[in-house]
Amino acid sequence: ARRAVLSAATGPGRTADGHAVPLLANIGGPRDLESALANGAEGVGLYRTEFLFLDRETAPTGEEQEAAYRPVFEAFPEGRVVVRTLDAGADKPLAFLPPPEEEPNPALGERGVRMFRRYPEIMAVQLGALARAAAGTSAKVQVMAPMVATVEEAEWFATACRTAGLDSPGIMIEVPSAALRAADLIRAVDFFSIGTNDLTQYALAADRQVSAVAGLQDPWHPAVLDLIALAATAATAESKGCGVCGEAAADPVLACVLVGMGVTSLSMGAPALPWVRAALGRHTLDQCRAAAAAARTATSAAAAKAAARAELPGLA
Ligand code: PEP
Ligand code: MG
Repeated sequence: ARRAVLSAATGPGRTADGHAVPLLANIGGPRDLESALANGAEGVGLYRTEFLFLDRETAPTGEEQEAAYRPVFEAFPEGRVVVRTLDAGADKPLAFLPPPEEEPNPALGERGVRMFRRYPEIMAVQLGALARAAAGTSAKVQVMAPMVATVEEAEWFATACRTAGLDSPGIMIEVPSAALRAADLIRAVDFFSIGTNDLTQYALAADRQVSAVAGLQDPWHPAVLDLIALAATAATAESKGCGVCGEAAADPVLACVLVGMGVTSLSMGAPALPWVRAALGRHTLDQCRAAAAAARTATSAAAAKAAARAELPGLA
C-alpha cells in the first residue's frame, strides 16, 4: 500500500521559527493519493466524496464506500484524514433520488448538509461506512459537513457523527452566518475547516459559476479575511483546530496571512504544497501576523495582497 514518507525536502509544514502548520492535500478519491504523497502531504484536509454518488442510478452501498475510504486512511497511518460528507445539490443532482425542486439559485438551495436533513438515511450509510473504515486504521479520521449555516445544523450533524462512532466531528465554515457566529458553532464541534471558495462566493454575493462576476470571487477581499479571522479566533479561544481547505490555502502569500490570523492547518491541491511549504519556511509567525494585520487594514483585495507582500520579504 502507498504510505506517507516525509523526507527533509518535503518535511512537515512550519514557519521559520518552528511553528507547526500541517500541510494537507485536497483529494477527490484514492486516485489522487499518488500526487498527495509525492508532494509530501502530511494527511488529507479535504476528501471530497461526491465522486461516489454522482452519475449513478443507485445509491452507493456502505461496502462500496468503505472500499473508497480505507485506502485513503491507510495511506496516512500517522496522519490526519478529514472527510467531507456528500456535498450535492441542484447543480450536482443525484440520479438515484427523486428530481429536486427547480431552484433558480442552486448555490442558495438545498445542498450539502441541507440535503441530509431530507435524506438522513444517505447520511447514516455514509457515516457508518466511514466509522467502519476508520476502525481498522491508525489514521486520525475526522468527518465534517459542508454548508452549515446554523448552530442547530452543527449540533444535529455532530450528534449523528458521535452516534455512528465518529468522535471528532467538524463543520466547514463556508457560509457567512457560520463565520459571524463561529463562537457559537465551535461549541458544537471539534474543529472548523474554512471553505474559502464558497465563503467568498457568499460574502461577495458572486456566483462561483458565473464568469461575469469572477472578478469578485477573490479571497483576498478584506471582507473575506475578516470572516476567516472570526472563525480562527473563535476556534483558538476554545483550543480547537481551524484549517483552511479552499483555494486560498494554495496561494503562498495568502497562506502566510491565514497562519497569521490563527489558522492551524492548510489543505490544498497537492501540486501547490511545495510552494506553500517554502513560503511558510521563510517567514516567522510574527511576520505572518504582521502580514495579516496589514492585509486587514486594506480596503480592496489588491491592496490587501500588496500590503501583505510588503511584510513578507522572503517571497520572490
Ligand atoms: C470551498 O468551498 O472552499 C471548498 C473547499 O469546497 P468546494 O470547493 O468543494 O465547494
Ligand atoms: Mg464549498
